[in-house]
Amino acid sequence: MQLRQGLRVLRRARDEVQVGVDPRWAVRVGGLTPERAERLLRAGDRPVDDALPASALAALRAAGLLRPRGARARRVRPDLVPEALAHGLTRADGDGVDSVRRRSRATVAVVGLDRAGTTAASTLALAGVGGLLLDDPRPLGPADVAGPVAARRTVDGATDRATAVVDGLRRLAPRTRVHVRRGLGAVLAERPDAVVTASAGATDPASALALLGADLPHLPVVTREADALVGPFVRAAADDRALPCLRCLDLHRADADPAWPVVLAQLVAPGADGHAPGVPAALAAVAGGLAAAEVLAHLDGGSPRTAGAQYEVPVPSAEPRLRRWAAHPACGCAALDG
Ligand SMILES: [Zn+2]
Repeated sequence: MQLRQGLRVLRRARDEVQVGVDPRWAVRVGGLTPERAERLLRAGDRPVDDALPASALAALRAAGLLRPRGARARRVRPDLVPEALAHGLTRADGDGVDSVRRRSRATVAVVGLDRAGTTAASTLALAGVGGLLLDDPRPLGPADVAGPVAARRTVDGATDRATAVVDGLRRLAPRTRVHVRRGLGAVLAERPDAVVTASAGATDPASALALLGADLPHLPVVTREADALVGPFVRAAADDRALPCLRCLDLHRADADPAWPVVLAQLVAPGADGHAPGVPAALAAVAGGLAAAEVLAHLDGGSPRTAGAQYEVPVPSAEPRLRRWAAHPACGCAALDG
């Protein structure tokens, strides 16, 4: 057997070595001769069977830190090594390379390029997602620039947000195909593997319905005066029949507040986001990062935390709280699956 890739191996004492730092799997291997401790510290990709007593091998096996002897490390692009190693350690099969390769074949659409949407897009690009479709015809404002993506203005300063960030994203992640699309219909026609929508105040119910009708996985990011909502992640009806869609949440809100539809209509009216000043930088980093992590969990074959739930991220702490939502009995979204 060999140690899994990506593990730190550290000396604790002359006869004791620690394998792993993350408390989810880190183990202490004690009772070693100095020679055996040294061999474990320098194991790398070499077999450890002969280097360790049976008790130590059992401890490593129980912690899930061993892989079959002779398993060859599969190569991955140098910039994606952190993705492959960290995600490999969290997967039962230990195969982070497979995750990274799946991402490279995926296309994700980001509809709404405020700071949170742009952060989600740049994070997905850096994490190895192969294609991005961007849609946001609104003019670029002074508070719309996010993280490392330098938005480009035209000479007269008038350009749309999607066009403004394309070059920056291409420089950030040259292997990711980045394209601008005009309108949700054009985005949906390309059948991306997931759609992130970023908007101020609320998600437009018409967009939510179009996404549900297209049966495409989608995740809303909504920023309000001083917080952000990420989720719920809505997947194909066949996968998540009992989980809520975005309309379910609006129906729940209307149950609690009969005037919610009136308020909602104002939040999503054309030009309403002109009243929204933009997204504070740290809030955008957390909300956009969470959205990217949720999409990656989906692309990697895992379960997004916000399937049937929503992160609430407040200013100033930016500490996410996960709130669960149920499907609304009056929505009938599961019935769309036929
Ligand atoms: Zn629903």
